[in-house]
Amino acid sequence: MNKKTVKDIDLKEKKVLVRCDFNVPMDENKNITDNTRIKAALPTINYLLENNCAIILCSHLGRPKGEIKPEFSLKPVAKELSRLLGKEVIMAEDVIGEDAQSKAKELKNGEILLLENVRFHKEEEKNDPEFSKKLAEFAQIFVNDAFGTAHRAHSSTTGVANYLPAVSGFLIEKELKFLGNAIENPERPFVAILGGAKVSDKIGVIDSLLDKVDTLMIGGGMAYTFFKAQGYEVGNSICEVDKLDLAKQAMEKAKAKGVKLLLPVDTKIGKEFKPDTESKTVPWTEIPEDWEGFDIGEKTIKMFEEELKTAKTVIWNGPLGLFEFDQFAIGTNSIAKALSEIDSTTIIGGGDSAAAVEKAGLADKMTHISTGGGASLEFLEGKKLPGIEALQDK
Ligand code: AMP
Repeated sequence: MNKKTVKDIDLKEKKVLVRCDFNVPMDENKNITDNTRIKAALPTINYLLENNCAIILCSHLGRPKGEIKPEFSLKPVAKELSRLLGKEVIMAEDVIGEDAQSKAKELKNGEILLLENVRFHKEEEKNDPEFSKKLAEFAQIFVNDAFGTAHRAHSSTTGVANYLPAVSGFLIEKELKFLGNAIENPERPFVAILGGAKVSDKIGVIDSLLDKVDTLMIGGGMAYTFFKAQGYEVGNSICEVDKLDLAKQAMEKAKAKGVKLLLPVDTKIGKEFKPDTESKTVPWTEIPEDWEGFDIGEKTIKMFEEELKTAKTVIWNGPLGLFEFDQFAIGTNSIAKALSEIDSTTIIGGGDSAAAVEKAGLADKMTHISTGGGASLEFLEGKKLPGIEALQDK
């Protein structure tokens, strides 16, 4: 990475603003159900503590849409972070208001302050210069460690970098190292597995991965558009009829490039969109009218597993079925398990696939689990991430 990190700047005893990604899932009682993203921020926070910095943290949580909504408060995060660090984390009542300003002003070296949800202000997502400036006034240095929002040009991810020296934290550095190495210098065979609901969300990444991988496996809702593009009926399965040409082009590109494109050979279908719906497995060419494809079938799972046995680098993004319903989570869970058993570099591209791996208790068996679904997809697509671009060059 040619961008400066916290190691490339003198931040001893400085006031530092750190953009974290504390967008964690919570249950209805505001208990954090997965603290992975908070833990992922610890190396940078600890490094700043070692350097006796006064640390001002900020993040978004959920989608309060520019309004102050208590259900999106970062208070539970302050509590959890405090528990993980064994140290008080002072919570500000607002983002750039009086309380945040006075607490930031009084903050001593070695202390930590967490500002309220930056998305309580609509200016945040508009990357409003005045708002960015207000955030920047809190500190002398800006550290971006929020990989999960690095693909967004918001005030707290890029705007502040116009007013402060800006460097990355260790999380962003680590994410770019793993994702970058996999893409630029993969040990081969290099296999990508793509799932998820829609072709339209993934067509960019399909196109760019076809230039890099040896094998591309496609599952999830996306697969039905590929079936339809070949002239087969898909019943009520999720299918983007306006994307048939894109699917055809991808198939042609794979052929031209000599990339092995593995589409499902069978699919588990259901009668209705509900957890206990009647289901059965059929060949992909025989989806009946009125039925919906919700998962890859056993033959496809076997085929994918076989292919993965010889892979040396694997990138996976997107569930292979409607994994929220147990009976259609088998494809996704089987692939997670297969990845945990092979001797290769395994990179999970965040989002639902990361959640599936965590839920299956297989997280520590993977080489790297990205904390950013959207950001890692855009990175794999070859797009420049604004939150990274805004940082100082080395
Ligand atoms: P994405 O955000 O594009 O990665 O899509 C993830 C969503 O796709 C998850 O909520 C899955 O349940 C859903 N999904 C995956 N496969 C299917 C399918 N065959 N039918 C409907 N939804 C699916």
